[in-house]
Amino acid sequence: MQTSGPTLPASGPAPTRSTFAQIPLASVEWDGEGRVTRWSPEAEALFGWHADEVMGRRATEWPFVHPDDDAQVRRVASDLREARALQTFSANRNLTRDGRVLHCEWYNTAVVDAHGRTQAQLSLVLDVTERVRAERAADRTRRLQSVTEALSEALTPAQVLAAVMDHGIGALEADAGVMVLLSADGEQLELVEQRGYPPSAAGGWERFPLAAGVPIAEAVRRAEIIIVDSPEERDRKYPLLSGQQVVYPVSLSVPLIVEGRRLGAMGLGFRAARDFPDDDRALMMALARQCAQAIRRALLFDAERAARRAAEESEEQFRTMAESIPQLAWMADAQGALFWYNQRWYDYTGTDFGTMQGWGWRTVHHPDHVDRVTERYTAAVQAEVPWEDTFPLRGHDGRYRRFLSRALPLRDAEGRVVRWFGTNTDVEEQLRAEEARAALLEEAQAARGAAEEANRAKSMFLATMSHEIRTPINAVIGYAELLDMGIQGALNEGQRGYLARIRASSQHLLGLVNDVLDFAKIEAGEMGFTARRVELRASAAEAVGMVAPQAESRGVELREEPCPPGAGYLADPDRVRQILLNLLSNAIKFTHPGGTITVRCVPNGEPPGQAAGAGPWACIEVRDTGIGIAAEQLARIFEPFTQVDGTHTREAGGTGLGLAISRRFARLMGGELTARSQPGEGSAFFLWLPTAPAEEGSETVDGSTVEDPFWPAAAGEVPGLREAGRLLEESPDRVVEVWVRRIQGDPGVPGAHALDRARLEDHTQTLVLEIGRALTILDTTGGAPLMMRDGENIQRTLAQLHGLQRARLGFAGDEIRREYAVLLEEMEALLHAHLPARAPADPEPIAGMIRRMMGRVLRVALESHASLPDDERRRDCVRV
Ligand code: ADP
Repeated sequence: MQTSGPTLPASGPAPTRSTFAQIPLASVEWDGEGRVTRWSPEAEALFGWHADEVMGRRATEWPFVHPDDDAQVRRVASDLREARALQTFSANRNLTRDGRVLHCEWYNTAVVDAHGRTQAQLSLVLDVTERVRAERAADRTRRLQSVTEALSEALTPAQVLAAVMDHGIGALEADAGVMVLLSADGEQLELVEQRGYPPSAAGGWERFPLAAGVPIAEAVRRAEIIIVDSPEERDRKYPLLSGQQVVYPVSLSVPLIVEGRRLGAMGLGFRAARDFPDDDRALMMALARQCAQAIRRALLFDAERAARRAAEESEEQFRTMAESIPQLAWMADAQGALFWYNQRWYDYTGTDFGTMQGWGWRTVHHPDHVDRVTERYTAAVQAEVPWEDTFPLRGHDGRYRRFLSRALPLRDAEGRVVRWFGTNTDVEEQLRAEEARAALLEEAQAARGAAEEANRAKSMFLATMSHEIRTPINAVIGYAELLDMGIQGALNEGQRGYLARIRASSQHLLGLVNDVLDFAKIEAGEMGFTARRVELRASAAEAVGMVAPQAESRGVELREEPCPPGAGYLADPDRVRQILLNLLSNAIKFTHPGGTITVRCVPNGEPPGQAAGAGPWACIEVRDTGIGIAAEQLARIFEPFTQVDGTHTREAGGTGLGLAISRRFARLMGGELTARSQPGEGSAFFLWLPTAPAEEGSETVDGSTVEDPFWPAAAGEVPGLREAGRLLEESPDRVVEVWVRRIQGDPGVPGAHALDRARLEDHTQTLVLEIGRALTILDTTGGAPLMMRDGENIQRTLAQLHGLQRARLGFAGDEIRREYAVLLEEMEALLHAHLPARAPADPEPIAGMIRRMMGRVLRVALESHASLPDDERRRDCVRV
């Protein structure tokens, strides 16, 4: 505000009406009390108020003076009126009749009388609105520049916010400011900076939802300036705030937007009411834009700095880690040039960074390898793929050791390779060990070759022996018999005696050769077995019958306890016979005349220790009352060529192979051979064999064995067996699907008609699969009893379950018979339809095997069907 300025000369003649009328400026004349007495046409033109509207009124009596300048104008007017100053100057704003604001300069002069009292006043008015505007604009530009400068120096978000607050508030002529920023999820506004508010004002507003009904949030939401003119307006528009302390009556909220993205808003508080013309708003928006940009830049800068710091830290950690690893380690830049080595590298090579930098490492490489290494390393770096190579590196002692070397590209967030991290692991010892191992392996292979050659030679020898020795022995025996028969003339007693010795010795020699051959065959894995179901008592009786004359001639009683009929074993009966004969002849040999030998069968038992098979087992026991075996010998008698030392043994003769062969046979058949003995009291030997349950139709009245024509005797013997097994294993569902459909409509299985498929199936798919598996196993093992029996057990369990389930459903036994018959038909149909395509084989013998298996399955199912108590039958049926 100015109260002095250019003045009119005080001593000059008083201006006259005509003088003023000629001045092209707006002019106003007032009386001594300040009422308008003349309102020039120029004044009319400038302000829009007509002379007759204003005549006789004081300037402050109609809406002419801008309210903000009212006080100033009154002061100037009273100075003139009271003649405190004869000339005054006032720069103030006036309102035109149509409401525009004009910036005017008023030059006033008082006309006083002789007593110094003011008689009249004259005012000349200069419209300086344009000039003020221009100055304001220049001022804004200056303020904007000062903010820009301050912002350009601020780097961190905190500095930017401080600069915005320090300079922005001033530039916008505000008394206070706050800054809120949108949270990362865009849902919340956070108060990040404030100036000029009492601490109590911020309480509770540190963080609030973007959706909150407050002006600053609205500014962000609508992306425009929100002005609140008064506390009343605030309370009316923002009920959330009503009742809250009014710190600044006028507030302005400017959104912070950069590149279309809302960052937050700036709030400004004004102590006095004021208006915000368009150019002010434009300035604010420009300022806000700058602030937003600076904030964004600072946030990015901050993020980048954090990332850089993290990268630096991680590189530091990386180096620390690389120092601690037991390998030599190094780092290279993106182009593969090495810029760092760990201490171990320097320690090992005895070099320093100066010589190693870049591609200096080549100097510690072996000349024979360095070019290859360089070439491959460069290629890996170019292709940005991991590198690996093994090569010698020269140590500080001048000696080379071989290192396994690897390098991995380290990439930044954008996937660009920024570094290579490499390690060299000393593998010298390892390579030497490997080389030694390889040499050993080679030796071992050579040795094995030699051994195989020797084995072949042994087999040849055995075959030869079998033929070449047995033939002459047989010849000796044969000729001795001819002589004995007296064909070449009668023999005297002495000659007969010699002949008897020749025959006995030859028989012994033949037995020896046979034992050695058997043992050699077992050792060579060439001993084959044919498993059959045989009655225990049949084998026992047969063996007893064969040694009876021997026992009798030695004066030893041979007893056979009655064996329960129906109990069977599954093994090779020829081998069983051989074992029993060995046990029995030992018993005869080692029992004094007058002693007793007892043979006993146990249909179910458990061998001590672990037998090879899964059980259950049947047992044939051979017990004698002979000389017995000492405990320390008992463990060894099953070892080959072991004989208990003693006169008796020497007298009895033998090879010491019998028990070794017998135990091996027993084990190979899934059984076991064990012994118990007390010296002087006798011995008992137990032959354990896998049991086989009685089969329908397989028993004969006299309990003799029944040959089973269907099982193959050796692996791969039946063409197409494996393929047939596979067929069933692959498509049990196919078979069962047709089977289900058929029995649902089969008059022989009425119980199946109303049954749902799941209950009807009842594990039948598994049964078909198991039968297929059994065929495959038969083909692989040649009917090895062990494997067969596992499969059988599964089939048996399934059959038992099936019998029970059908019984509960109220099926009759004949219905089970019929459904299994249909199942068998379907399996056979599958074989006939698909087997020829897979193997040039006759399906019939295989179908025979399946029939046998199904026969057993049916029998088990029927047994279990019959075993269910009557009150449990049809229970499920009622539920259906
Ligand atoms: P050998 O052909 O010599 O009989 P074995 O392997 O059949 O060979 O028997 C080994 C040894 O075990 C016999 O030499 C004998 O010392 C002892 N032995 C075997 N059976 C009996 C037994 N029933 N009573 C006493 N000793 C026996």
